[in-house]
Amino acid sequence: MQTQLLPVTPSALALAGTLIRAGELVAFPTETVYGLGADALNADAVKRIFEAKGRPGDNPLIVHISAVEQLSPLIAGAPSPTARRLMDACWPGPMTLIFPKSERIPAAVTAGLDTVAVRFPVHPAAQALIDAARRPVAAPSANRSGRPSPTAAAHVMEDMAGRIPLILDGGPCDVGLESTVIDVTGETPRILRPGGVTPERIAQICGDVQVDDAVLRPLREGERPRSPGMKYRHYAPSGALTIVQGEPGAVVAAIRRMYDDALTDGRRPLILALTHRLPAYGDRRCLPLGDSADEMARAMFAALRQADALDADILFSEAVPAEGVGLAVMNRLERAAGFNIVSV
Ligand code: AMP
Ligand code: MG
Repeated sequence: MQTQLLPVTPSALALAGTLIRAGELVAFPTETVYGLGADALNADAVKRIFEAKGRPGDNPLIVHISAVEQLSPLIAGAPSPTARRLMDACWPGPMTLIFPKSERIPAAVTAGLDTVAVRFPVHPAAQALIDAARRPVAAPSANRSGRPSPTAAAHVMEDMAGRIPLILDGGPCDVGLESTVIDVTGETPRILRPGGVTPERIAQICGDVQVDDAVLRPLREGERPRSPGMKYRHYAPSGALTIVQGEPGAVVAAIRRMYDDALTDGRRPLILALTHRLPAYGDRRCLPLGDSADEMARAMFAALRQADALDADILFSEAVPAEGVGLAVMNRLERAAGFNIVSV
């Protein structure tokens, strides 16, 4: 199959809408990462997403809408007061809510769960695509399963060329990390996956928030997480990644030592560093991550892909505090590292 890469124009959107209605897949930009969309009400179309990504069938998809009124046919009952408050404050935006599902949602979308994940994205191209499709669009991140999520159309092309007919190119993604997934089926909102909408913000809106304790630790043997996606090794570069955290001077010294040892051992090391610290690493091979959690969110997945392009076989990354957007950054980075973390 030939994969077309088109800028977001009215004619490209019309083509995208036609493809989705015909049960085909279209990759499109959102404010979080690029999504791989299909008609959420067509079980065969949804199965194509799993095939194209190589995604395990027990990892459910997020259903995307382009207006709040499109929610009610997708869910059983009315949104809870907690859900309402979050929708009013954060939709459209990088927040996914988990509701009891209606019968219209095919089992393939929810991996057999009786809940459905729904998001109303703010990116105009994402909204325009859903409008053009005239139906809700199921869309996971548009990477091959296990690879870092795509934050630019070129990343989607790397992973999906020949597998899907169309990629809409809307430039780089604003947030750079997947949406915050919040279970609103209980009274207190519970974060299953951290993202651009922070725990601090949710607590402000709802008065209270729980963070699922699987967010910043590896799963125990046989444990079934509330968010099935959390059990897979995600976002992984090919090289082995170690996160080094602690006081800045000690982190730089430790990374320099580990890098030099790796080089002596004939390895191809690479450092992922806060931008202002790059000079401290001298002529060692580095990629900049920016200087704040927000910048790191935007830069991180591209850096992990770049590490593969540079053929690095051992990586050392600096860390940020796990608060605000930093919680989401560290959640992804720790999974990319297989929880290989050194404190100095
Ligand atoms: P992705 O779209 O690739 O970012 O993955 C979607 C994420 O949403 C995965 O981590 C899923 O586990 C999570 N998710 C989707 N539907 C549900 C659901 N019904 N309950 C809990 N988590 C869900
Ligand atoms: Mg994903």
